[in-house]
Amino acid sequence: MDFDLTDEQELIRSSARDFTDREVIERARENARNHHFDLELVRKVAKQGYLGAIVPQEYGGAGLDYISYGLIVEEIGRGDSALRTVISVQTSLVCSAILKWGSEEQKRHYLPKLCSGEWLGCFGLTEPESGSDAASLRTRATRTDSGWVLNGSKMWISMGNHAKVALIFAQTDPEKGHRGLACFLVDTDQDGFQPQEIEHKMGLHASDTAAISLDEVKVGPDEMLGQIGDGFKVAMSALDSGRYSVAAGCVGICQGCVEESVRYSQERVQFGRPIASFQLIQAMIADMVLKTDASRLLVWRAGFLKDKGRPNTTETSIAKLHATEAAQWCANTAIQVHGGAGYVDDHPVERYLRDVRVTTLYEGTSQIQRLIIGRAKTGINAFVPQ
Ligand SMILES: Cc1cc2nc3c(=O)[nH]c(=O)nc-3n(C[C@H](O)[C@H](O)[C@H](O)COP(=O)(O)OP(=O)(O)OC[C@H]3O[C@@H](n4cnc5c(N)ncnc54)[C@H](O)[C@@H]3O)c2cc1C
Repeated sequence: MDFDLTDEQELIRSSARDFTDREVIERARENARNHHFDLELVRKVAKQGYLGAIVPQEYGGAGLDYISYGLIVEEIGRGDSALRTVISVQTSLVCSAILKWGSEEQKRHYLPKLCSGEWLGCFGLTEPESGSDAASLRTRATRTDSGWVLNGSKMWISMGNHAKVALIFAQTDPEKGHRGLACFLVDTDQDGFQPQEIEHKMGLHASDTAAISLDEVKVGPDEMLGQIGDGFKVAMSALDSGRYSVAAGCVGICQGCVEESVRYSQERVQFGRPIASFQLIQAMIADMVLKTDASRLLVWRAGFLKDKGRPNTTETSIAKLHATEAAQWCANTAIQVHGGAGYVDDHPVERYLRDVRVTTLYEGTSQIQRLIIGRAKTGINAFVPQ
């Protein structure tokens, strides 16, 4: 076993760390305060090669391995989860799906524009009546002489207001259940594609989240990823990459909580000495370190398996489950270390707590991750009635 990063991975990590310290952290608080989806920052991220890190260079990506991608996402996650969400959606949910399931023509058409940030993409799986039970989605795809027409609605779609291309999962034949699902590449400029901003979120204020109505949206015959019936598999494979990305981002939150708590506890004096000298404060920091290290190692294991091309769905779910729950615990505990000062956005820990809350919900809730892990270990699929 080798826990050393390569020289290249170390370099990628340190430059992502510098970029986050220089460009991201400074803007994160203002963007959250102003509920501002920062397109200028997204462009800078694209310039760094962070929107298509795992996409081969021949399609405009950086051609990096999953470990390197995880290191980048960890650093950006430490700075701003709203920005990290952009990277996760664009790279993992959209690009990885096109990379795995797209035709050569589709890859050449979409990936360079997505990796360069010229286009943003979104991933339209969830609907008002269909969340964890994704296979029950109701958006309908009907075949026409010139392709397909889509009708239905999507809910909670990250970047749905800014995306130029949307992966829309739709049912082609309700009688077939998940075997009737297909994934369509939809041009969002069409009249029938109507996104609406979801307001008043608890966190991720600088992230764009949309409800999307699809009214007679036309799709060409070649704008499908894979074949009819592949939709569910496309979604699950994209989520394997997306969950890894969310987990890595949460390692970043954990790390940020440790760093902020150490710094603050060394500066803050009570009872005549820095609060860092109190054992109960050190215990909180030690537990944060423990959870951070365990989460990072689980993410690295999942990344290692991905890079080897080995099955990793269960290990990715373990990493996602652990890292998201750990980050939630760390953010809450970091506020405890900060006392009242942690309750306002002068320190990042306040934003960490609001932003981390969604990570145990999206890309499969913690309950769903447990069912995936349980299914792998028991051989019994608890998603369907036995
Ligand atoms: C900010 C934000 C951004 C998002 N971005 C996207 C996006 O870009 N694209 C996209 O498609 N979706 C996106 N989502 C949707 C997200 O993936 C869903 O919210 C998530 O899958 C859960 O679905 P749900 O909200 O409908 O909850 P439900 O499925 O209704 O779950 C409610 C509760 O029931 C539990 N539950 C459900 N089924 C079971 C079961 N079988 N056993 C035990 N417990 C169960 C859940 O764990 C949860 O606790 C986003 C959500 C948010 C909040």
